[in-house]
Amino acid sequence: MELISDIEAFTLTAGAFIEYYNASLLKRNGIEDTPEVREAILNIHKKRHHIFADMRALKSTDINELRALADKLVGVEYELQIEWGFTPDSNMHSYWYQVPHCECPYSDNRDAWGHNVKHIDGKCPIHGGMESNSEKLMKLIA
Ligand SMILES: [Zn+2]
Repeated sequence: MELISDIEAFTLTAGAFIEYYNASLLKRNGIEDTPEVREAILNIHKKRHHIFADMRALKSTDINELRALADKLVGVEYELQIEWGFTPDSNMHSYWYQVPHCECPYSDNRDAWGHNVKHIDGKCPIHGGMESNSEKLMKLIA
């Protein structure tokens, strides 16, 4: 893969997803921009897209399956942070409330990014009623 500009878009063939790749941000974090790093980041995003697709294929009543996939996504968010050279931090995760069937408030959680706050809708089939468990899990992985 040849470096064309500092900001490049990876286009994934699965679905309509476009992943933006920022080589200067990577360098700022002390990571060299190499084809291997690009591929590693892209592969983690592919994993994320597969989790989203698997969740989309489920019904909102498939609670155990949805929650198992949501837990897997937490691990993927940490993997992304590490590959990008960031300190693993669940307060900086931004995909957990965007998963299919999640009913937690999108903009509240987007605004809470970087803060130790998660806005959970008690009726959410994935996060409702399990705030303490998911927090515990995030601490275990961190
Ligand atoms: Zn939710």
